[in-house]
Amino acid sequence: MVEELVGAGLVEEGAGTAPSGAGTEGGVGRPPVLLSLVSGAAFALGLDFGHQHIRVALCDLSGEPVVDDYSLAEVDHAPSESLDLAQTLVHDALHSAGVAPDRLLGVGMGLAVPIHKATGNLEADGILPGWHGIRPAAEMEARLGIPVALDNDANLGALGEKAFGAARGVDDLVYIRLSAGIGAGLVIDGHPYQGFAGVAGEVGHVLSDPQGPICRCGNRGCLETVASPVAVATLLERSLGQPVTVARLLELVAEGHRGARRAVAEAGEAVGRALSMVVNILNPELVVVGGDLSQAGDVLLSPIADAIERHSVAPAAAAVRVTAGMLGPRAEVLGAAALILARSPRALAARLGA
Ligand SMILES: [Zn+2]
Repeated sequence: MVEELVGAGLVEEGAGTAPSGAGTEGGVGRPPVLLSLVSGAAFALGLDFGHQHIRVALCDLSGEPVVDDYSLAEVDHAPSESLDLAQTLVHDALHSAGVAPDRLLGVGMGLAVPIHKATGNLEADGILPGWHGIRPAAEMEARLGIPVALDNDANLGALGEKAFGAARGVDDLVYIRLSAGIGAGLVIDGHPYQGFAGVAGEVGHVLSDPQGPICRCGNRGCLETVASPVAVATLLERSLGQPVTVARLLELVAEGHRGARRAVAEAGEAVGRALSMVVNILNPELVVVGGDLSQAGDVLLSPIADAIERHSVAPAAAAVRVTAGMLGPRAEVLGAAALILARSPRALAARLGA
């Protein structure tokens, strides 16, 4: 395998041998050789399709982003225009970094929709209706001529925080993303968990308020209808007498606006109640809170932690920490790149034609 990796240019043998005593003892077998990763030998590209934006990150083999770009897009309603825009973003990223397409190991792609594990079909009904019947990985592959791996955005956020952010070294974690929608990515025993069909982690559609509004999924009173950033911002419109965007909501929270802090704190409590059930069932070590609303900081995080403490069984509550994500809005796109970088060295070498 070392020969394959060296042949592909992914690793190089260091000058001299490893310090004596390293490797096999007693001089049996090959003498140990220092190998080092050639970070710039190959690249992985992440694409994150949000509801209203597309983000791209080109990462070297150590996961360091060499290009990180962003464009607004009407992703929900215009899938094929969005895929075209993503193609342009990919080409621009490769061009600005001076990376030839044959040095690209693959493209990881995140989409805010459950993806059926066996068929790769989108479970788009109600969640992302404009994308019904579209096969995004195949469409993107046809545009780029590069292998594309598709995953749910919250799953990728979990991978990103585990590889590069707040969950490094953590094998049991729940990443919850509070953005236009609410979703969670689960890592159990070190492995991403998607469930039998690929729909695991839909915490946004757990019942939160039986009398609440009808949700886009068709059920009533889902957590998302109570605690998504848009739902929280909307709560302030009556008292402020004007439309309130999520950005404005976050400004009001930062300014100490009493009503805005109250609205975010109650959303945190609802999120924490839903997570308390997840904590009871999965006994995670860490809950990482990402997405737009996580910018509210402790105004959001403290009520989440308090609700988990109050509603989870004591040993599970005592075991879990709640923290904000470290990667902010880049968690998903870096997770998409990590999806490619996590492949076996042999698969990576094969892609480079060693
Ligand atoms: Zn729902």
